[in-house]
Amino acid sequence: MIAEVIVDITNSTVDKVFDYIALEDTTIGQRVMVPFGRRNIQGFVIALKDKSDLSNDKLKKILYAIDSYPAILEEHIELMHFMVKKYHLRYADCLRLFIPSELRTDDVKPLVKTYVTVCVDPKSYVGNVRKNAKNIIALLEYLKLGEKYLKSELTSKFTQSAVNKLIDDNVLKVLEVEQNRKPLSYEITAEKHKLTLMQQRAVDAILKNNDTYLLFGVTGSGKTEVYMSVIESMVQSGKNAIMLVPEISLTPQVLSHFRARFGDNVAILHSGLSAGERFDEWRRVLMNEAKIVIGARSAIFAPVKNVGVIIIDEEHETSYISESNPRYNTFDIAKFRSAYNNCSLVLASATPDLESYQKALNGEYKLLTLPTRINDKPMPKIQIVDMLSEIRNGNTGMFSSAMLYELDKCIKEKHQAMLFINRRGYSSFMRCTNCGYIPKCSDCDVTLVYHRHENKLKCHYCGKRYKALTVCPNCKSTAIRNGAIGTEQVVAKLKELYPDVPVFQMDNDTTRTKNAYQKILSAFGSTKPAILVGTQMIAKGHDFSDVTLVGIIDADQSLYHSDYKSTEKTFELITQMAGRAGRDKAEGKVILQTYAPRHYAYRYIANYDYKSFFEKELNIRKNTMFPPFTTILRLLFSSQNEEIVRETTKLCYTDIKQLQSEYLQDFVYLDAMKSPIGKIKNKIRYQILMRIKHEHEDDIIQKLYEICDKYENAKVSIFVEINPQNLS
Ligand code: ADP
Ligand code: ZN
Ligand code: ZN
Repeated sequence: MIAEVIVDITNSTVDKVFDYIALEDTTIGQRVMVPFGRRNIQGFVIALKDKSDLSNDKLKKILYAIDSYPAILEEHIELMHFMVKKYHLRYADCLRLFIPSELRTDDVKPLVKTYVTVCVDPKSYVGNVRKNAKNIIALLEYLKLGEKYLKSELTSKFTQSAVNKLIDDNVLKVLEVEQNRKPLSYEITAEKHKLTLMQQRAVDAILKNNDTYLLFGVTGSGKTEVYMSVIESMVQSGKNAIMLVPEISLTPQVLSHFRARFGDNVAILHSGLSAGERFDEWRRVLMNEAKIVIGARSAIFAPVKNVGVIIIDEEHETSYISESNPRYNTFDIAKFRSAYNNCSLVLASATPDLESYQKALNGEYKLLTLPTRINDKPMPKIQIVDMLSEIRNGNTGMFSSAMLYELDKCIKEKHQAMLFINRRGYSSFMRCTNCGYIPKCSDCDVTLVYHRHENKLKCHYCGKRYKALTVCPNCKSTAIRNGAIGTEQVVAKLKELYPDVPVFQMDNDTTRTKNAYQKILSAFGSTKPAILVGTQMIAKGHDFSDVTLVGIIDADQSLYHSDYKSTEKTFELITQMAGRAGRDKAEGKVILQTYAPRHYAYRYIANYDYKSFFEKELNIRKNTMFPPFTTILRLLFSSQNEEIVRETTKLCYTDIKQLQSEYLQDFVYLDAMKSPIGKIKNKIRYQILMRIKHEHEDDIIQKLYEICDKYENAKVSIFVEINPQNLS
């Protein structure tokens, strides 16, 4: 037999299939050691065949199998081919996504616990030891014949030497047992709600036909209960399930809900686990010991066999798109796996991505809705506060009078408040604090980004540069500001206003250490009254029953983020944030501070009117020819050498111009330029930006890959990005 092997080196020159003579028991998906050049290297068997095109004397033999089991499923080998073609990835980079890095680097061994069993009656053995060996005598008195003890427990109580002496004397026999590390302890307390009519309808639909569904349910409508019911039915019928959740929502509360309901059947895969825990959970899935996988983005690659359903919670989250090598989109992978396994794919959100909702309206997805909160609890009332009029009335502080009034009330009633600082991305914009004017690109209708060290405004979609603003063209005021209010400033102000109220702060700075995030959340959860101040980290998924006030300090930050999706993202963030208030008995209230109170986004947000927002926003996208009506493509070039990167960009551009002439109808936009951030880690960056229509999209992308292959070399790297989230 001949094995086709991919060697575990991510280098385009060796990223191809090599033939080796297979061992007798070589299987597809197995990791093997093979001779490669002058060394031995790890490889993956991706196929077996009868003969090779190479003559026998040219073929080398696989040395040995690294694992006794195939670490990669046959499904994943097909998935690899799919990804390599679709995203222009290397084989080795794909395969690395499918197994825990710990396995590849051999860092983690199964956890072994050492036990001892008592083989000789300890009472009668006491006569055989010296009278003054107190520890040994005490140990013998403690032990019972036939019992099993954890060795470490005995050594800590009776000393290492006493235990070892009895092992040497054959009184104790050592027993090593492989254990699974359990990332989360739990109690089985499966509280199971009786489904509401709407929930039941959604569950029935998903179970009835294998299809792609968009579950559109407002915050607090009981989506989680729907997931659990669907998963339960699947497991009962002998199938397995994958559920993806944004990393940030993988809170102990969510996980323990699932553990409580499904026990050891749940495996958890996310970056907060230790290497050993992740390895063990992965192996439990591979061995089919765990039937349900819950995890962040990369859990879509979990080695689940016989998948019965894939659920993607908070499907609008951009974290489902991998923006660094290997670049991929989780939805494509989920689509592939659901087709391969012939199972349902459920995308769920309170604020679906515009494109997903459009697909649901087109019939490409089946739309399921949960339009009200459980028990018809009202959505919290959203009050829009005009900050410009606050300034006119002499209040130049960060809190409006309405915000202060509600804060006072919330604290007096011993409830909790969450104050949200909107800081999506790090780009900053300029604003006239007199009239609220914000400079935009005249060609693209997106907010310009202020680049501080060049003191320039730039459009990230066309590369056009503008002078920084000094005088407002609208009202001639020179009161121009850039930069946002920080979490710390807000916390300091609150401490000054309410010295006796505990204030918790959550942002990138306070959550660097492992578990810090969880600690802050649980401390806040158990304190009343209390205020939690945070960035978008606090906006999603939390279910605190005593939060009655949600305050949005400066809603506009994400509205003027430099991308075409900024209005959509603002709608989503604020709706999610508002959804944290009034989830239990006490009614909730939301104060939204803005400098643009008449912006359509806020009007629709305040009415919880997703549908009208959707129509308005989609219309704008259609007129400006942005996604979902087109696809944005970026070729990103980088090199240490400016001359080379510029020349390569030019050559590619010429080829793409040629391509454009073949697909004249499809190109909406094409230009080459220096990237907005022209240099990162000493590499000079150039880019070619395109917007193309969908009809021949696949063909055009494949041709772009060919162009890249033609010009890429050791000195310059080229990446193709499809609908990148960030164009800096
Ligand atoms: P969502 O994920 O849609 O925001 P959750 O799943 O968190 O909503 O549900 C909101 C609350 O309603 C939770 O506290 C949950 O326990 C409760 N809940 C869900 N379904 C039911 C039901 N059928 N009956 C009673 N309470 C329910
Ligand atoms: Zn102005
Ligand atoms: Zn522009």
